[in-house]
Amino acid sequence: MKFSTKAVHVGNEPNFKKGGSGDVVIPIHLATTFARKKVNQPTGGYEYSRSGNPTRYALEKNLAGLENAEYAYAFSSGLAAITTVLLLLKSNDHIIAIDDVYGGTRRLFNQVFKNFGLNFIFANFSHGNQLKNHVRENTKMIWIESPTNPLLKIVDIASVCQFTKGKNILTLVDNTFSSPYFQKPLDLGADIVLHSITKYLAGHSDVVGGCVMLNDKKLAERIKFLQNAAGTILSPFDSYQTLKGIKTLSLRMPRHEENSKKIVKFLSRHHKVKKVFYPGLVTHPGNQIARKQMSGFGGMLSFELKGDYKIAVKFLKSLKIISIAESLGAVESLIEHPASMTHASVPKKERAKIGISDSLIRLSVGIEDSDDLISDLKQALEKI
Ligand SMILES: *Cc1c(COP(=O)(O)O)cnc(C)c1O
Repeated sequence: MKFSTKAVHVGNEPNFKKGGSGDVVIPIHLATTFARKKVNQPTGGYEYSRSGNPTRYALEKNLAGLENAEYAYAFSSGLAAITTVLLLLKSNDHIIAIDDVYGGTRRLFNQVFKNFGLNFIFANFSHGNQLKNHVRENTKMIWIESPTNPLLKIVDIASVCQFTKGKNILTLVDNTFSSPYFQKPLDLGADIVLHSITKYLAGHSDVVGGCVMLNDKKLAERIKFLQNAAGTILSPFDSYQTLKGIKTLSLRMPRHEENSKKIVKFLSRHHKVKKVFYPGLVTHPGNQIARKQMSGFGGMLSFELKGDYKIAVKFLKSLKIISIAESLGAVESLIEHPASMTHASVPKKERAKIGISDSLIRLSVGIEDSDDLISDLKQALEKI
């Protein structure tokens, strides 16, 4: 089955079994517990909604299909998914993460899991061979994002997986920025794929959720155990909303990309713009790798204005259609200022080291008409 068919049908199969009513949309099963006819036999395999829920199960089946995975689990947020994955590890284990990892991930690593004895380093690696100097005896996981946030750096996923192969190191890819439509890390050799459902998967700024997809049975069983043990589950209503959002993923993603390419072209030629970051640009350092491992460059871009913090604020305040908001991946365009919003918790010195300047703007391009988006950006640029 091809991607768009799977997005619509997998997990959404009508129930023709006895008692089923053939719903073409998965019902929202709100029951917290499931009654039994026989004391020692759960009805339909369900006991208690934290350990298993029919709506969540339908979504998990659907999510597995999207990443060509055997197993998938849905969580109450992207960070709940990340928390659950970290519970696979033990005190003294070492994790190497890409340096401009999502701000919330960095905070969870440094301000929570460090207290439990996990060790993290943040490194600038785009190829597997650059990991050599960072790997220690206790390194258990490589944490990749590609493209990264907000500078859209590209990591060669296959090359990192090649490096970790046979080393007892798990390779995890946070695939939120590309969505499974444009990139499938498990096919490139990754052990675990993770998403913030909040972004492209749900796609309408109305669900906070996360998920994990993988192929290894033993590892999957452990994650399922932890999902129940830690209680980091996605609710039935949010599972339903996500299933609905995913049905149009294959329509939304090409439009996000098409609009992005037009906006990149416009911004690159504008005299008030210093630099544009987009993996689809041939001048982008990761362009060749992106071409190899992604089937499209996605809907996220960043750009630096000529000027300082004040200029950036004036530009943002002048926008009329595009909302100033954190988050990304939704049908509506969202723009933000990393230095004072998503990356405000990263110290200024650290930001400078990564390359996040005070005039950097991140844009999540929506599915509106590109002419309207470009006009909006144009009039705001004229005001600075
Ligand atoms: C948003 C995001 C997260 C966190 O997800 P939440 O749903 O907000 O908890 C993790 N990684 C990336 C790349 C994100 O964009």
